[in-house]
Amino acid sequence: MKATIEGGCGCGAVRYVLALDRLPPTYACHCRDCQTWSGSAFNQVALLPEALLTVSGPVALCEVTGPSGRVSRQRVCGVCHTRLYSTNSARPGLVGLRAGTLDRSDALDVVAHIWVKRKQPWITIPDGVPAWPESAPPEQFAHALARR
Ligand SMILES: [Zn+2]
Ligand SMILES: [Zn+2]
Repeated sequence: MKATIEGGCGCGAVRYVLALDRLPPTYACHCRDCQTWSGSAFNQVALLPEALLTVSGPVALCEVTGPSGRVSRQRVCGVCHTRLYSTNSARPGLVGLRAGTLDRSDALDVVAHIWVKRKQPWITIPDGVPAWPESAPPEQFAHALARR
């Protein structure tokens, strides 16, 4: 399959290719941690099998152990420190790609919202888009991400 989905960091030192023929679905996490880590109102993520991602350029690793003992490994550009993707010991084999780094981020769909009890008050979730006050039950979440 020809990969046509690409992205990269703000300075251009790191580029990546996804082995997909169309943009992946994304979700928004409105939790306080995501607001802090992203420096923004929420974190827009595409959850993907790690094998689909090919990265080139200098990537730096930032490892954080949460209170639950789960280890989050954030990958950032080694030059400009744009957050690119992360892995988590709680979901081996998957990457959470920071969807705003995709070249075609303007064409992405947000198909689910989690931790909306922490969302900024000015954000309105569109009718018909699944949302949960905290984390979504895994089966319901998978169903929401699969629905296009
Ligand atoms: Zn960079
Ligand atoms: Zn979050």
